[in-house]
Amino acid sequence: MGNPLSWSLADRCMTAAIIVLVASGLFTVAVWVGGGTPFVPVDTDAAPLVRWIALIHLQPWWLILVLAVRARRPGRAASPWLAIATVYLFAVTLALFTLVTGPFAAPGWIAFLGGSIVGYLLFERRHARLGVVAYLALVMTGAALVHERPWAWIDQIVPRDTRMPSTTTLLGQAITSTGLFVLVLALIAFIIDRWRDREARYQKLARTDWLTGLTNRRKLMEIGAREVARARRYGAPLAVVLIDLDHFKKVNDTHGHIAGDRVLARAAAVFAAAIRDVDTVARFGGEEFAILLPDTDARGALEVAERCARKLAAAPLDVGAAEPLIVTASMGVADTAGPSADLEDLLRRADDAMYRAKQGGRNRIVEAPRADAGPMPAPAAPAEPAEPGAQTATAPATGA
Ligand code: GH3
Ligand code: MG
Ligand code: MG
Repeated sequence: MGNPLSWSLADRCMTAAIIVLVASGLFTVAVWVGGGTPFVPVDTDAAPLVRWIALIHLQPWWLILVLAVRARRPGRAASPWLAIATVYLFAVTLALFTLVTGPFAAPGWIAFLGGSIVGYLLFERRHARLGVVAYLALVMTGAALVHERPWAWIDQIVPRDTRMPSTTTLLGQAITSTGLFVLVLALIAFIIDRWRDREARYQKLARTDWLTGLTNRRKLMEIGAREVARARRYGAPLAVVLIDLDHFKKVNDTHGHIAGDRVLARAAAVFAAAIRDVDTVARFGGEEFAILLPDTDARGALEVAERCARKLAAAPLDVGAAEPLIVTASMGVADTAGPSADLEDLLRRADDAMYRAKQGGRNRIVEAPRADAGPMPAPAAPAEPAEPGAQTATAPATGA
């Protein structure tokens, strides 16, 4: 089931629809079969009306359920309008229940509090808040319209065989109840808001590299696996660019680690600015970056790589030395070719290509041979001792 806070919109709408269909379904059975017990007074004039309201209001929920289930299919996403419709329908359902059982009576209270908690958990705050306002408006209006009827709220507060209390007493009760309502609701909203903020912070930490602010390697692998599956399913291309900064050890040795860190952050910002929204740039290892490009083949990826190299060369960094520092990078590009491509295969081919860019003299981009073109010739022995180190730098980012 996972954490409700990370559910998709479709899952949230579906959950709300199921909760209402089960709870309101039980209520509807109760009023049709049992005449209302234990929710509404039996043998009142309003009983038939309540029965029909209960039955009719359930119907739009089937529509929500169907739309949500359809939106859960792979490659689909729920429209925000489905969430808005769900929240407002939720408010209408709860308001009807509250009016039928009495606005200030226990069942309405419980439904309202439970409904607000579910609403705040499942939906965006602004929608949940508007849902609460809509609910209160509906209940107030409804109570004002039907307060003479036998099933109206005054009936719930005052049993029919006792004397009507004074207006002051009733008003006092109403004000006290409303105050408590608002207090409990504010408390719930406060706690859930804090919880959601903290949850969002932790989720961000878990997928972000602390030094560069980029997606970390773990999240990249997650996104990559999903994109490979999508590309396979729809026969779309998918490309990856692996980037390794050249002679980075020398940057650290010459200018110090702090300057090295700044160079990494600068390079990250340059790459992030050079890609589209749907692409993902991640810190892949120490001074290595990976760019995942959905719906892009190697040719498009080469363009992206060239743009990155150009922008990197145009972004000198003042590290306190006589000359501003310009770093270069070696890049390997690969795309998914053939239906059997998987993420590891894609990354390995890009890594091989990047390795060849290093061997070819650095500061260059190499495209991996197509996967169906047979195995790449084994790379020759490393040109310099730094190379094996460059390989180990593909281990998970130290700061990730
Ligand atoms: P090559 O051109 O072959 O890639 O040479 P290189 O020096 O970049 O390669 P090598 O892999 O030997 O060195 C990578 C260096 O990156 C080693 C390590 O000290 C440095 N590095 C890795 N992570 C960080 C980091 O977070 N901050 C800083 N300042 N340096 C880092
Ligand atoms: Mg390097
Ligand atoms: Mg490296």
